Order: sequence, then structure tokens, then C-alpha cells
Amino acid sequence: MGLRSELLKVFEELPFAGTYPSPQKCNESQVTGNWKVQRPVVETEKCTQCWQCWIFCPDAIITRGENGPEFFYRFCKGCAVCANECPTGAITMVPELEFED
Ligand code: SF4
Ligand code: SF4
Repeated sequence: MGLRSELLKVFEELPFAGTYPSPQKCNESQVTGNWKVQRPVVETEKCTQCWQCWIFCPDAIITRGENGPEFFYRFCKGCAVCANECPTGAITMVPELEFED
């Protein structure tokens, strides 16, 4: 079996979108939200609900809310991918020091 057909077999066995097992319990050392120095904030008036942010967030911490994206800040790393991908500029990265929580 050649490399190409072996790779195809691997791809065929992958579940849709590719998933891998994650810890069932939240370990404090895995709370990636502690790393961030800025957080995404959405202006819902500018949001067209295209869900580009939801698709591109590398940590999958965005959920599709009724009025736009909702962020699970406990695991958001503040990478700003969502803000950079948003076509309408609805997401602004705000310094963490501006928040009390
Ligand atoms: S800043 Fe990064 S981790 Fe946080 S919601 Fe945006 S894309 Fe996801
Ligand atoms: S990418 Fe921007 S416009 Fe699209 S859903 Fe996210 S916040 Fe809204």
C-alpha cells in the first residue's frame, strides 16, 4: 500500500471535522484563559452573524448566541484570530486590565 492510500485511509477514519479526546474534568493547569492579556468583545450592532469567528477560533470557545458570538473567557487565549477574521470589524480586543473579573 502506498503512502497516499495509507493517508487516505487515515483521513477516512477521522470523524467529521476531526476530534480528539479531551479531559473530562477541568484541570487548573489547563485553564488557558489565564494566559490572555486581552479579550474579544463584540459590538452586536455590527455583527451580521456570518460565524467566521466561530469557525476560526482555534480553541472552539465561541458559541453562536442569539445576538452574535458568546465567548467562554475561561479558555479564550486572547489570540485575536476571531477579531482578525471578522469581516465587519465587530470584534475588538480589549486589554484584560480593563475588566475586574
Ligand atoms: S481571542 Fe482567540 S481564543 Fe479567544 S475567542 Fe478569539 S479566536 Fe478564540
Ligand atoms: S465574524 Fe464578526 S460578523 Fe461574523 S458572527 Fe463573528 S462577530 Fe459577527
